[in-house]
Amino acid sequence: MSEARYKKKRDFSSTSEPEGGGRSGNKRPIFVIQEHAASSHHFDFRLEVDGALKSWAVPKGPSTDPRDKRLAVPTEDHPLAYADFEGVIPEGQYGAGTVIVWDRGEYDNITEKNGKRVPLAEALEHGHALIRLHGKKLRGGYALQRFRGRQSDDGEQWLLIKMDDDEADARRNPVSSEPESVISARTLDEVRAAEGDDRNS
Ligand code: MN
Repeated sequence: MSEARYKKKRDFSSTSEPEGGGRSGNKRPIFVIQEHAASSHHFDFRLEVDGALKSWAVPKGPSTDPRDKRLAVPTEDHPLAYADFEGVIPEGQYGAGTVIVWDRGEYDNITEKNGKRVPLAEALEHGHALIRLHGKKLRGGYALQRFRGRQSDDGEQWLLIKMDDDEADARRNPVSSEPESVISARTLDEVRAAEGDDRNS
């Protein structure tokens, strides 16, 4: 059901994005952050929740500085198989542009209420979730906080904020200093050059 919006937006005879499905095969859920040079450049932050990837577009990308509040706008759930996708989405297709897997790993849900763990789906419904990332570039706690709209509203807006823990580091700026894909070591430009539209060459 959660893949219906994803499928409706795409023509799988044109795009090489996965049609659906996929399994993480992990005991712990995964997260993935995809850098996406589309009509506007952004980072797609995705969390495995109940068999799908809950997704937010983060225009500036994630920060490792707890003082930064990064806008995160919900997008449609993506299939788990999307966690492996990098490549070029052709002109005329939804999200046309280049995608790399900028970071990926497992995460722990650390959301609690009255000393008890809150399931992540419930936490997201309530608009406040805490997670601990175990990525290659991003590690430690992050808060996701809804500040506008309600779940599934069009105007829903969230903030992604680094928690002030041992992994917080105001001097790092991995969005600019670590541009390579964590699965292929390629940059956006290299993926575009390798797989880009032949009409432009
Ligand atoms: Mn995107």
